[in-house]
Amino acid sequence: MIEELETLCEMQKLDTQLIQHERKRAQAPKRLAEIEQDLQKAKDKVAKEKEIIEELDKERRRKEKELDTEKERIKKVQSKLYEIKTNKEYQAVLKETEAAQAANDKTEEEIILLLERIEELRKDYDTSLAYAKKRDKEVEAEKKELEKEMSSVESVVNKLKKERDALLSKVSGEAKARYKVLMEKRSGLAVVNVKNGVCLGCYMNIPPQLFIEVTKNARLITCPSCNRIFCYREES
Ligand SMILES: [Zn+2]
Repeated sequence: MIEELETLCEMQKLDTQLIQHERKRAQAPKRLAEIEQDLQKAKDKVAKEKEIIEELDKERRRKEKELDTEKERIKKVQSKLYEIKTNKEYQAVLKETEAAQAANDKTEEEIILLLERIEELRKDYDTSLAYAKKRDKEVEAEKKELEKEMSSVESVVNKLKKERDALLSKVSGEAKARYKVLMEKRSGLAVVNVKNGVCLGCYMNIPPQLFIEVTKNARLITCPSCNRIFCYREES
């Protein structure tokens, strides 16, 4: 293989790795945002559950206060029963206290239901809180891991760039220009192999005679369909 072609082929290998690493690096902020969002969701759930519990507890306290007041009132009414002169009046007061008592029983039942519901929700809340705390720790670890990964990607990217630039300085101005244009216009793939007479850049068949020429690797040959530079390798 002529040296220039070999150099271009190596450059492509480095650039392909570079693109993969850069893609990984570009995904890091998205991954980070996803992790944060997931944690925020868990925290929001805890806050929402807490809010509901507090709301129900407020309702319970209000009902208890209402019950106490009503009980006091019944007591007062009952304490005045002896002052009543007529049976009709007596019956009326009795009827009123009975109705009030029935209302109180209902309120008591409602309070019990509220207490049960609050207890149930507190269990969910405890579970959610424990999960959020666990996620918080995990997210810290994941973020550190991601940072570590990114700094390693960064150093690999720098190393690959240096190697690629060193090779780039070895090729002629024309080959360099052609390579650069193809890298831009052919989504990062400028040098390709050919397998069974098919260009592995655009997957079009190339003429048999040209394929024979390509396998010699004796000069720069480009694909008639996509213009990519051919670098023939038996294994691909
Ligand atoms: Zn092609």
